[in-house]
Formats: sequence, C-alpha cells, structure tokens
Amino acid sequence: MINYKLLTPGPLTTTDSVKREMMVDHCTWDNDYKSITQKIRGELLELAHVSPEEYTAVLMQGSGTFGVESAITSSVGKDGKLLILSNGAYGERQEDIAKHAGLKYRIQHFHYNEVPDAAVVKQILDEDKEITHVSMVHSETTSGILNDIEAVGKVVKAAGKVYIVDAMSSFAGVEIPVADWGIDFIISSANKCIQGVPGFSFIICRLDELKKCEGKAVSLSLDLYDQWKGMFDGKWRFTSPTHVVLAFAKALEEMKEEGGIPARSARYRRTNALLISEMEKLGYKTYIDKAHQGPIITTFFYPENCNYTFKEMYEFIKARGYAIYPGKVTEADTFRIGNIGEIYEEDIHKLIDIYREFLTQKGQL
Ligand SMILES: *Cc1c(COP(=O)(O)O)cnc(C)c1O
Repeated sequence: MINYKLLTPGPLTTTDSVKREMMVDHCTWDNDYKSITQKIRGELLELAHVSPEEYTAVLMQGSGTFGVESAITSSVGKDGKLLILSNGAYGERQEDIAKHAGLKYRIQHFHYNEVPDAAVVKQILDEDKEITHVSMVHSETTSGILNDIEAVGKVVKAAGKVYIVDAMSSFAGVEIPVADWGIDFIISSANKCIQGVPGFSFIICRLDELKKCEGKAVSLSLDLYDQWKGMFDGKWRFTSPTHVVLAFAKALEEMKEEGGIPARSARYRRTNALLISEMEKLGYKTYIDKAHQGPIITTFFYPENCNYTFKEMYEFIKARGYAIYPGKVTEADTFRIGNIGEIYEEDIHKLIDIYREFLTQKGQL
C-alpha cells in the first residue's frame, strides 16, 4: 500500500500512535470504558472554555453531518423557526437538514467569498419575529473562509434567540470562547482539528437550552436530549464506535502535549501562511481575500493559461506523497489544499517542490 499524506480537511493525516490505539477491542459497559467517554466529554468542555455547570458535551455516532442534524432537529421543534446563514455548501446542507425534518426555516444566502453580515442578521431578526433559532458555519470548508461567529452571536443574543454553530473544521484549531460568544450548541467531529479518526461527532450544549429539547427531536437515533440523558455515566445509548473513541482519547492527549489550542492553531496559521505565500510565488491566487481567509483550508484558482486538469495534477502529486482536494465553489474553477492534521512546514516545502516539478513538466514555469 502506498502511503501518502492528506492535505484534505478531514479525514486527515493522524499520528501512528493515534492509529495504534485502534488495535484494541474494548467492551462498552464497564467502568474503564465509561470513564474514557466521561474524560473526553470533560476535556471537550475545557477546549470550548465553558464550565460543566453551564454546558455539557454530548457525543453522537456518525460523521459531522449527523451532529449538525442532531442539534438542529432536536432543538428547533414544531413551534420554532430556524434562520440559516449560508455562504457555502455546509450552510446549504443545513437547509437540506431542515427540509428533510419538515422544520420551519428561512435561509439567508451570502456570496461564497463574503462573510455573513451581522447587520443583515439584525435586520432579519427585527422584522421576522417568528424566528427562534439562528445557525451558521464557522469555517466554511467549501471555500476556507472563516466567518465572524462572534459578531453574529452578539446580534442573536441581543434578540434572545438560540444560536447554533457548525464549527466542524475549526473547533480546537482556532480558539472559540463558546460561552462568551453566546453559542448554545456548537458542533464538531472526531476527524477534524483534534486529529482523531472518523466515526463520531460531538455537540457542546448550553444545559438550559438542551433541557428544552426534551421530546422535540424528529429522529430516534439523532435525539440529542435522549443521547445526553443516556450518556450521564459515560454509557452510549447505542453501540459506540469503540476504536474511534480510543483513538480520540489519544488524540486529545497528544493535543495537550503539543501545547493545546494555542500551539495547534499557531502551527495551522504558520503552515497555511507558508502554503499561500509559496503558491502565490508559483502564480496561484486565492479565492478568499486575506482578511477572511481561515487557517484550515485554502481555495486556489487555476492560472489563466492553465493546460492541465485537476486529475492530472492530483495524480502527479499523489504519486509523490500528498493528496489534495477538488474545488467546491460553484462559480469558479478552483482546487483546495488543506493544512490541518499532521502537516508541518516541511510538508508544505515538499509539496511546493512537487508543484514546481509538475509546472516545469507542463511548461508553465
Ligand atoms: C467536515 C464538515 C462537516 C461534516 O461533514 P461530514 O462529511 O458529515 O463529516 C460539516 N460542516 C463543515 C463545515 C465541515 O467542514
């Protein structure tokens, strides 16, 4: 099997020691296992800068979307109305979730390279009194833009609404003071910035809002309230992804060894800045401007005189040890390169050398 590193936003490149944790078959009912789950839940609250008196962390089987769907469809209810702020595919997915669940909702679209404007949100909340919940994405992985969830949170809280944030690709890679920013439900998953493997998502919930979710869920398995009730002593309601949980506990430990969020976010910012400056030297331009470019993943335009396809570029790079990502913005021809996971400046330098070789072969340098 060829080994290559993932320059994708999850699953991402994990350490060998995280992967090795999965060599154990663990039973789920005993205190050892339950205490691992409880420890994870406690540490997630620390990463979110919230107290266990005010917040709780609920783990949910499935990928990140399961967590977003769980939070939305367990909290809005029949009498509520959700305002979705969208500037990418993951915002649009929230609309899909609301539609499938038959929830009352309204979606406000923003351009893919613009952050949702808090003033526009305020105006909508002033005129549409039916709205009870507001949701948005923090790091829109579609483009790499980092949305201003703090500014929007102020407006949402001033209006007394419930605030749901999909921080899938940013949580623990960027500091998020969850309580200070007025977030009631924030969602991420095991295979993003904490650098575990895929298999579950987690939702950090303000307790008084979570308690209001009783009986509101439209799905059995994604019922956030029931999952929380069932998990009071660390027991998962249905079969837990044991191997993934063990790997995640190890990933949390390694995150602490690295120096926690401050060190990890500094590494991501460094590798991201290096990637962008080196790619610019090769003639590639970024889709998002510097003011809003996040440190997780970057969307690049193809150059004007481009004479190669994504597939050609992808295969060339993969054969030399790295996997990049196709573009996802709808209006422009782009590709993406992520820099989260076990990726260091040395990897960026290697990638740039591969690009130089590729572009030379194509007569573009
Ligand atoms: C990864 C991601 C998700 C979840 O996607 P899954 O494929 O379900 O894991 C949701 N939102 C954002 C912003 C993401 O980056």
